[in-house]
Amino acid sequence: MPSMRALYPGSFDPLTLGHLDLIERGSQLFGEVVVAVLQNPGKTPAFPLEQRLAQIQTATHHLSGIQVISFDGLTVRCALETGSDVILRGLRAMSDFEYELQIAHTNRSLEPDLETVFLATTAHHSFLSSSVVKEVARFGGQVDHMVPPVVADDLRRLFNQSFRQRP
Ligand code: ADP
Repeated sequence: MPSMRALYPGSFDPLTLGHLDLIERGSQLFGEVVVAVLQNPGKTPAFPLEQRLAQIQTATHHLSGIQVISFDGLTVRCALETGSDVILRGLRAMSDFEYELQIAHTNRSLEPDLETVFLATTAHHSFLSSSVVKEVARFGGQVDHMVPPVVADDLRRLFNQSFRQRP
């Protein structure tokens, strides 16, 4: 089967083991995965763009065929510019489905030839989200089973630092 290129867009603030699982399975399915980190000027992320890119680069080091880039603006434009064949997204629960379906329809209306492919989460990662991970880390909980080691270190640094800065 010829290799395909999948664009996996997201905020990745930060990368979780759920995201990483999707990248690994995407690369097995398609051969190439472009992980595109959204640079959203309207939102202040917990981790700056450069740090999110570095986290993903480190966590995907063992995989081949992975590119990590940043983007802003339309996802379909990013897909065309990177020569991607499909957009890859993940589904955890029904709550994801409604939102993801809306985005997929919108993208299809903009670029009819660009398909969105959904991968269902691995069951034991289904509870994982970037916001849950940040919430746990903020209150000093263990996150090593939720995120790659590089992200666990960055989370500890981020929240220890803000504790220390308090008067
Ligand atoms: P966005 O802000 O674009 O939703 P996210 O970084 O939160 O970006 O998620 C990117 C994609 O990864 C989304 O399709 C989301 O549904 C999927 N995803 C997030 N967490 C998981 C998980 N634990 N398992 C499978 N897919 C996931």
